[in-house]
Amino acid sequence: MHVTPRKTKTYIKTALKDSVLRRAVLNATGSTVASRQAIIDELPYWEDLREKAHAIKKDVIKHLDTTLQTFEQRCTDNGIQVHWAADDQEARQIILGIAERNRVCKVVKSKSLTTEEIHLNSSLIDKGIDTLETDLGEYIIQLMEQIPSHLIIPALHLTRKEIGKLFQEKLGNAYTEDPHELLKIARRTLRQHFLSADMGISGANFGIAETGSICIVENEANAHLTTTLPDIHVAVMGIEKLLPDFKALPYFLKLLPANATGQKSSTFVNFISGPTHAKLGEGPKEMHVVLLDNGRSRILQDPKLRQTLFCIRCASCLNSCPVYQQIGGHAYGWVYMGPIGITLIPQYLGESVGKTSPYVCSLCTACRDACPVKIDLPAHILNLRSRLAAHGKTSRIERTGMRIWAFLARHPRLYRFATWFPGKAQQLLPGGRSFPAPGYTRKRTLPRFDAQGFRKRFNTLQMPSAGQQTEHANSEDNR
Ligand code: SF4
Repeated sequence: MHVTPRKTKTYIKTALKDSVLRRAVLNATGSTVASRQAIIDELPYWEDLREKAHAIKKDVIKHLDTTLQTFEQRCTDNGIQVHWAADDQEARQIILGIAERNRVCKVVKSKSLTTEEIHLNSSLIDKGIDTLETDLGEYIIQLMEQIPSHLIIPALHLTRKEIGKLFQEKLGNAYTEDPHELLKIARRTLRQHFLSADMGISGANFGIAETGSICIVENEANAHLTTTLPDIHVAVMGIEKLLPDFKALPYFLKLLPANATGQKSSTFVNFISGPTHAKLGEGPKEMHVVLLDNGRSRILQDPKLRQTLFCIRCASCLNSCPVYQQIGGHAYGWVYMGPIGITLIPQYLGESVGKTSPYVCSLCTACRDACPVKIDLPAHILNLRSRLAAHGKTSRIERTGMRIWAFLARHPRLYRFATWFPGKAQQLLPGGRSFPAPGYTRKRTLPRFDAQGFRKRFNTLQMPSAGQQTEHANSEDNR
């Protein structure tokens, strides 16, 4: 499935017509938001946790160069081979190079959204390497030949019935929509692949600079199998994923599961600090970490948008977003979606590709309240919109409208006529109706223009007396 943010408008129209998808997305996000709220209600120090996490990420991003150097050095001390990838192409070449050197025939993957970003699967498959996603959700969408529709729950847009039919078709088992049965079928199939894979590829939730370790948070234990059973383990992580030390980690281990899946804690937390085979006689013989830039350094240099690098990909902003809840993840046309996706798309893929993305937002600000690391997403979205406007990347209708308004604003008589005329013309419409506005009035009514006009109304307004003004000012102060 190939999607692009250039076609966001088309995808949105399709998604809005798909009532099954909309119900599935709304149900899943609704239950996660409710479970998250229940956890918040139990924790009086929730806001302190967010403040602390924000401060830690701010410090890491501010000192990212030295923190990365420390991380690289400690990883090397631990026997991990560290690679730097400037972009997706370089990252793919590095990973393919490791696979070719080691004559890898089968790869199992886990917790690796970053590898979706670099389109790794198709490159491995094109080279004849059997490549299998092992997170249940990822496995399902791989069978469907789709991309994830959510950062944490990739198959959130699908119903149990759809998954049941998919398993019946692709895996040949009897139809069932019982989640336990489906899980058992997937487990049975995947288990054989873990045992026969030559290479495991994972992402990393956090890299710990002080110790040269990576931390992977999961619920299914497949990340553990991916990183321990094959002889080679490759972890792919964005350069922003670092934490300074283990002391910083508990804040994030508290915030991540609550915001991601509405759980108090994750079922498994894996810490990996190098290949263990030589020391313990089991585990990988080789371990590699690929540090991916792919546009992150550019964001780092931008003081207005740098904060978007604090993101821990928890998906809380998606779950709380009324737009995402209506259209699901595929409508955004990229691997990152929802409020964080629409800020990342123009930054990573360029303004021309991502010019629609910042407009897929109602500016309700729910995402700002939901973000555990306190990223001011609405401010970034507005910022991106104003940059797009400044660079002439807005639609022709919007540009023309603003030009007409600017012209009228400089010509008061014409302005007066233009604001007086619609109110008068509207009186000619039968039955007190308002003007039709194609698209807009299909689902709602356009409010009627005020027949009097703003200027006349302003002149008839009663100005408050000096005494009333003082009284009002005092009451404002006392709020
Ligand atoms: S922006 Fe905030 S809420 Fe959204 S995924 Fe990132 S960390 Fe989570």
